[in-house]
Amino acid sequence: KNTPAALLKRLLVGAACLALLPAAFASKGKPVIGLSLDTLKEERWQRDRDTFVARAKELGAEVIVQSANSDDTKQTRDIESLISRGVDVLVVVPHNGSAVSRAMKSAKEANIPVISYDRLILNSPVSYYLTFDNVKVGEAQAQYVVERLPKDRPARIVRIYGAPTDNNAKMFKEGQDNILNPLIKAGKIEVVFEDWALDWKPDVAKKIMNAAITKAGTNIDAVVASNDGTAGGAIQALREEGLAGKIIVTGQDADLAACQRIQGGTQAMTVYKPLKNLATRAADVAVAVVKGEKIETAAELDNGAVKVPSIFEKIISVDKDNLQSTVVADGFHSAESLK
Ligand code: BGC
Repeated sequence: KNTPAALLKRLLVGAACLALLPAAFASKGKPVIGLSLDTLKEERWQRDRDTFVARAKELGAEVIVQSANSDDTKQTRDIESLISRGVDVLVVVPHNGSAVSRAMKSAKEANIPVISYDRLILNSPVSYYLTFDNVKVGEAQAQYVVERLPKDRPARIVRIYGAPTDNNAKMFKEGQDNILNPLIKAGKIEVVFEDWALDWKPDVAKKIMNAAITKAGTNIDAVVASNDGTAGGAIQALREEGLAGKIIVTGQDADLAACQRIQGGTQAMTVYKPLKNLATRAADVAVAVVKGEKIETAAELDNGAVKVPSIFEKIISVDKDNLQSTVVADGFHSAESLK
């Protein structure tokens, strides 16, 4: 019936419905980015997040951030909640490149494009992948060690890999293998112990180092640790044996604590990855994707489902000699903080 009362009622119901529309809808016009992180535990991820959010803001976009505490179930829930909040694009650092594929299915159903950040999402449609050259990271770690090992006898090394669930950890190992394997085959290097550190945990790395010393003794020339967190764990174990500073230990990320150890002489090197470049570029790409713009990429990486257009940022090998001219000069850490 079209009585004035019925019309008024319909009008009121319509207005109430409009008011109930989700926030993301109401803010249309402004791109909304969902950023799903695996963890904020390592110092780097906080910097990734802060730089990404700041850049997105500059571009007029809003970012909703979730962190999964290294838990696949939580990451799936995080991503599903971002989807239901109506984000325009997802930027994901997967805890587990394969386990995240369930959430990726939901993203596809909702027609939300996905950008893989730092770590590759496997076996799912992904629009872009932005990362550092992870194979080069592994090569830089191994190269540093190889150049400093004794040459008059077979050198003895320990290898600590990252999380077995992290595709990057495999790429770091692949890079290390590129340099180490020919020398291992030639009998110039002996790997006295090796293992993977679950979730990149420093205390797991410490246990690996303890086990290495128990098995192989203290006659070790170098520890190829895959990042600074695991280097820290290994160095703790070495410290307890009075060996810290006497054995070459590698790392990655230029964490403040690691740079302080490099300055102090207990860690030999780290790989500095200018996060500002990666996070800024990723925010640019995310906003461009929302606007339907195409992004030029020089590379492609097969993730098992698609060839993902990829962007690789440069890495820098850092030790005591160039700490000031790289990490400090770049403003990553202040000179005072390293004293
Ligand atoms: C990152 C490293 C980081 C590690 C642990 C890797 O995927 O590339 O920079 O140290 O995860 O979070």
